[in-house]
Amino acid sequence: MQRSSTTENWPDALELGPVTVLTGQDQGKYPHGNSILVTGTNEKILVDPSLTIAERGISFDVDRILLSHVHEDHIPGMSRLPGVPVLCHEEDAVGLTSLDGLMSMYGLPGEIEEEFRKEVLEDFSYAPRKQVSTFTDGTTVDLGEVNIEVIHTPGHTRGHCAFLIPEARVVYLGDIELSGFGPYYFDAWSSLESFEKSLQLCGEIDADHFVTFHHKWVVSGKDRFLGMLRDFGTVITERELAMLAFMSEPKSVEDCALQRFVYRPSVDTKFVHHVETRSAQIHIDRMLRDGRLTQVTESSFRAA
Ligand SMILES: [Zn+2]
Repeated sequence: MQRSSTTENWPDALELGPVTVLTGQDQGKYPHGNSILVTGTNEKILVDPSLTIAERGISFDVDRILLSHVHEDHIPGMSRLPGVPVLCHEEDAVGLTSLDGLMSMYGLPGEIEEEFRKEVLEDFSYAPRKQVSTFTDGTTVDLGEVNIEVIHTPGHTRGHCAFLIPEARVVYLGDIELSGFGPYYFDAWSSLESFEKSLQLCGEIDADHFVTFHHKWVVSGKDRFLGMLRDFGTVITERELAMLAFMSEPKSVEDCALQRFVYRPSVDTKFVHHVETRSAQIHIDRMLRDGRLTQVTESSFRAA
């Protein structure tokens, strides 16, 4: 752990060999996030340019930008790097080429979307890119004596990826953020089942340092990581058990949304009811499929 001259305006930066963690404001609490800079003998790649980067500016050269996925908070620092080539997974590229494309990934109801569009443009400096390069699972990016290996970990978005830098024994997990909130799988571009498979896959990654975009920052030690990964996934199981208990009497999707199985009662944002409704629908659909719920009327369901 030492500072380097490339990160002079980053007092919180952490060096892990060829990987420098550019710690975001409030250790990456949304709307900020933790970016990483990977330095090889041939090029330097910046991963997930955060809002902190947009605000502080960049004091080092960047040859290319790599994105774990395309969401508003993972791209604002691109405004400081006009013309620098950007790469993301092919299934998220639509979010970079137009604002309409990005909005289609969230799938928000009209009124919320209108407000969010303005935020993405004004607060996150969104600007579409005409030229976007893409990668797929298993792609290796060679920076010269240092490599970034792409591990497709869909679920949060279709194109979400983790990045393994074997030479540093570091893996960058993007929004597999290991927080107490648990996995976020409520967008049009999300999938609960894919997220669960990706969590399993993450448990098999051979690394010593696990970096998240938000909240947890750098988790060192595989055992510690595995414990946090398990707790993170358990949020899903506990949500379903709580829903099943609530549904011992017939309940509708709206009843479940109002009961709140995602957010605490104190949380009051424009997204809460939409997310609670999406979550309720996703879990009711799954529990109907696997027989844990039965349908009582057209719009009500009960634990089987
Ligand atoms: Zn995200």
